[in-house]
Amino acid sequence: MPSIDFKDSNHPFALQMDTGTLTALRAAEPVLWVNPHWQAQADEVALDGATIERSAMDAAHQRLQRWAPLLAQLFPELQESQGHIAAPLRAAPAMAQHLGLEPHQLWLQCDHALPVAGSIKARGGFNEVVEHAERVAQQHGLWQPGSDLQVLLAPAARKLFAQHEVAVGSTGNLGMSIGIMAAALGFQATVHMSVEAKEWKKARLRQRGVQVIEHTGDYAQAVAQGRAQANANPLAHFVDDERSRSLFDGYSAAALDFAVQLQASGITVDVEHPLFVYIPCGVGGAPAGVAWGLRQVLGPHVHAVFMEPVQSPCVLLGMAVADAEGPHPDVYALGLNNQTEADGLAVPQASELAVAAMRQVLVACGTVTDARLLELLYQLDVHEGMCIEPSAAAGLAGPQMLQTTAGQQWLQGQGVDAHLSQAHHVAWTTGGSLVPAEQYAEFYARGQAISAAQR
Ligand SMILES: *Cc1c(COP(=O)(O)O)cnc(C)c1O
Repeated sequence: MPSIDFKDSNHPFALQMDTGTLTALRAAEPVLWVNPHWQAQADEVALDGATIERSAMDAAHQRLQRWAPLLAQLFPELQESQGHIAAPLRAAPAMAQHLGLEPHQLWLQCDHALPVAGSIKARGGFNEVVEHAERVAQQHGLWQPGSDLQVLLAPAARKLFAQHEVAVGSTGNLGMSIGIMAAALGFQATVHMSVEAKEWKKARLRQRGVQVIEHTGDYAQAVAQGRAQANANPLAHFVDDERSRSLFDGYSAAALDFAVQLQASGITVDVEHPLFVYIPCGVGGAPAGVAWGLRQVLGPHVHAVFMEPVQSPCVLLGMAVADAEGPHPDVYALGLNNQTEADGLAVPQASELAVAAMRQVLVACGTVTDARLLELLYQLDVHEGMCIEPSAAAGLAGPQMLQTTAGQQWLQGQGVDAHLSQAHHVAWTTGGSLVPAEQYAEFYARGQAISAAQR
């Protein structure tokens, strides 16, 4: 793959992509960038001196299981699942045909339906908050690993947590996951919201006793300011979406449940039955955690593809930088503006952890226009009766990206094309069950108008 030298105002960088892809990327047209570093046997990844271990994923999964009875006490909406943070994998035969696939080929991992948080942020966010609660309680002699967790809901623990702050920077959904869980345990919860964050998400958080600080800047700025404020409080824990291991571990734990659901649905993953998984991508933490977990659990025939808005392809950019060690440029360096209706994905600069973890694991990054997101949102409702948010529709744009020249070349180069008729495609629907009806109706109407104009 050729390497193109590039400069932004701060530093020069080289991008590994052909000129056609770069031109389309800069023109905010949909592209598929295939990762030249992909390996069937990925090397170990280390960041900040610590390798990413499979055992951390297992531990996060076990932690969420241990906490299930407590979560069921804290949140009435979790009683039905007995506190388990789980969402169904379901077939989408009508949408499959709409997308040109066979009816049995398209499946949806319905993280939009994850209770309490309403998005893929649930597992990662909850894992980090409860892990922090355990740590604080242990430091103060209230709890020991292995002993009954129930004391963490008792008045003494609440009193302790009330002196501590949990803070996070967010475009919306991470704030909901972290803020709601932290406040439920009695922490002072602070969410630094970037300019994209929807009003209803802020209102919902305030209702739950979370302090919402509104920033006029983008996601990277909200995170930087949140981090600086939290650093000034010795009793604050800042959930760092750009490098947090605990978030990553929680996200990756999804793979363990997913593998069980695949099996229950009769879906095999092997060389003759490749599995494509398309995950909407913002800063990269959630999709990287999931993709990393899937690779551990299901092996090299699961092919992860990240989908980003055409104006916010930060992980594509981070992955395409030739020098893996250098700083990641932001999307503004390409002349893009990071403006998108997909608020969950409006991130200008990738997570270092995500880029490092995905270096040899991710198959490709694709981009999608806002118009297409709204159209897919509408079509999913029409064909499957499901309501999701625009960000979550990004994965549905994935299967068609395989038809691009870059996609076809990759499929042929890997010998995957021979097995395409037996492949399954999973679009990860990452958020939306909490979107207010009025707001959803607006997305739906816009998607309907876009669809009508194309006929
Ligand atoms: C946050 C989010 C994503 C992507 O997760 P990142 O960790 O930001 O990459 C995808 N979809 C929705 C709905 C989200 O809220």
